[in-house]
Amino acid sequence: MVVQSLVKALSRMAKPKVVFVLGGPGAGKGTQCANIVKEFGFVHLSAGDLLREERNKQGTEYGELIETHIRNGTIVPVEITCALIERAMSQSGKEKFLIDGFPRNKNNLEGWQKNMESKVELLFVLFLSCSEDVCVQRCLKRGAEGSGRSDDNLESLQKRIQTYTNDTMPIIECYKEQNLVKTLDAGRSIDEVFSDIKDLFKGV
Ligand code: UDP
Ligand code: MG
Repeated sequence: MVVQSLVKALSRMAKPKVVFVLGGPGAGKGTQCANIVKEFGFVHLSAGDLLREERNKQGTEYGELIETHIRNGTIVPVEITCALIERAMSQSGKEKFLIDGFPRNKNNLEGWQKNMESKVELLFVLFLSCSEDVCVQRCLKRGAEGSGRSDDNLESLQKRIQTYTNDTMPIIECYKEQNLVKTLDAGRSIDEVFSDIKDLFKGV
């Protein structure tokens, strides 16, 4: 018995730790992840950034498919996204990860459960909750200031919000049922939100 629980404890220790960061477009996931990296030494993996990076590679077979999904605000098949996340995790050589903007729909969740869930320790899901109005204003501002993102325009944004409401919210609900979600009001200033985030990450 003692040996068994020791083995269990050791295998848990060896697993990389993961925090999922979810919230609508413009909720501040990227901004706050950068803050968390600085203060708590996590590695930040944005699923969207990994996909954009893959899209930009010369001769990648998925470039067009990824760009179509991004513009339409729909979700890239999990096989692609999950493989990018797993590769980035192992290449980093680190053990604490913020996975930002994933899992976003049922397909994402099922792919993650199938391939990754047993390999990591999910600490919690940080849910940055923000009204649709504020999200839209922030993304349009970001677009106007030259984010260079092909989806920071009103048309793509409306589709992103629709996907978020219909497909991502149920995933957050699913994690809520497992008591894994920590929700913060992300409609406030960056500093106010980060001050609450610090309380959540203390001792992690
Ligand atoms: N995306 C995806 N799967 C993911 C994450 C992102 O297909 O797991 C695509 C999707 O089309 C999304 C776009 O990438 O609308 C931009 O995602 P990002 O996370 O960069 O947007 P944010 O939510 O941060 O504004
Ligand atoms: Mg982002």
